[in-house]
Amino acid sequence: MGVVVQKYGGSSVADAEGIKRVARRVVETKKAGNQVVVVVSAMGDTTDELIDLANEVSPLPPARELDMLLTAGERISMAVLAMAIQNLGHEARSFTGSQAGVITDAEHGRAKIIDVTPGRIQAAIDEGAIAIVAGFQGVSQTTKDITTLGRGGSDTTAVALAVALEADVCEIYSDVDGIFTADPRIEPRARKVPRISYEETLEMAAQGAKILHLRCVEYARRYDMPIHVRSSFSEKEGTWVVKADDVSQESTMEAAIITGVAHDRSQAKITVVGVPDKPGEAAAIFRAVADAQINIDMIVQNVSAAATSLTDISFTLPRGEGQTAMTALSKLKDAVGFDSLQYDDSVGKVSIVGAGMSSAPGISARFFEALSEAGVNIEMISTSEIRVSVVVAETQVQDAVNAAHAAFDLGSDEIEAVVYGGTGR
Ligand code: ASP
Ligand code: MG
Repeated sequence: MGVVVQKYGGSSVADAEGIKRVARRVVETKKAGNQVVVVVSAMGDTTDELIDLANEVSPLPPARELDMLLTAGERISMAVLAMAIQNLGHEARSFTGSQAGVITDAEHGRAKIIDVTPGRIQAAIDEGAIAIVAGFQGVSQTTKDITTLGRGGSDTTAVALAVALEADVCEIYSDVDGIFTADPRIEPRARKVPRISYEETLEMAAQGAKILHLRCVEYARRYDMPIHVRSSFSEKEGTWVVKADDVSQESTMEAAIITGVAHDRSQAKITVVGVPDKPGEAAAIFRAVADAQINIDMIVQNVSAAATSLTDISFTLPRGEGQTAMTALSKLKDAVGFDSLQYDDSVGKVSIVGAGMSSAPGISARFFEALSEAGVNIEMISTSEIRVSVVVAETQVQDAVNAAHAAFDLGSDEIEAVVYGGTGR
């Protein structure tokens, strides 16, 4: 008998009807002869609503209490789903992250899993019960406090449990049929990708494609746990995220050079204007940003104008951290001797991703030509071995995605993508 771990996202368990539908699916998987462990997210937009509530009573909610509050969302889903399954005549037991043995560090709001000791889950499934686990949460090894893994963290709970239980597959259910060549909400001709490598999925997720939690993919890659991304609203086969070898074995035809187009509207751009062109200046700027615990993404430094010997340095960062970065940098103004700081949060990032590009020349040229034909101006560029990203004006993100999608022939003739639920919040 194989172990199957299934994770259902917030839109799949948004209301009583959704929970009953999920319960039927879980029972079918059990009846097919599997041991089943289910990880649930909070119902619908519960997590956002709880955050709003916290902000109404406190401008800066204490991290420990915020985690305590947010984990309640997943505890509601787990208990209600267990009831719905029992109502179908099958035994189900719900467990908090802590009861399920998800041990983390003590970083509230972004805790990392350091160990999984799923003794109670193993016992439950060995006794023939279906185990339901609250996603996105654990318990700190040192403080014994309840922690959360960061937004979208239930995916990571599911993969971590799948690895610890030596499951055959980790199935991640959401409101779309799998991973698409672009976000179907802005590219109606997006096609479902049948198989994709961990590396490509990581790039897509890191570049803003809201497909899977980044850390869940890293975890799956480290332990080679296949992930099947699919919809809880349909029976269709979804997308398999597997190791690169298993993708290429599968593709009998000439492999697609580009697997997908990702976009991200959550970034902002800071430009440090008039930086003296001498050693140590960039180091001082980025040290200040790093000390403020801010993760930056792209960096561009202009060639300094010969006359002034001053240069501009631009970088992108998450919008939510823009204010902190600007404050940290303004303190450096005199020491570093730059002229001014500019902040722009109406930017977006568009990326093409594909393992095939490392051996195909002319990919960037084709991408940039497509953008130019669509009248999209490129503000910044960055690349990795399997990705090319550009920063553009936020108002041009959709045009850029559509242009890139068409330039690499990613579109299907029929409309394939169905978005079944969710508010996209
Ligand atoms: N409920 C949490 C969130 O909305 C965790 C998750 O959905 O995975 O971020
Ligand atoms: Mg959610």
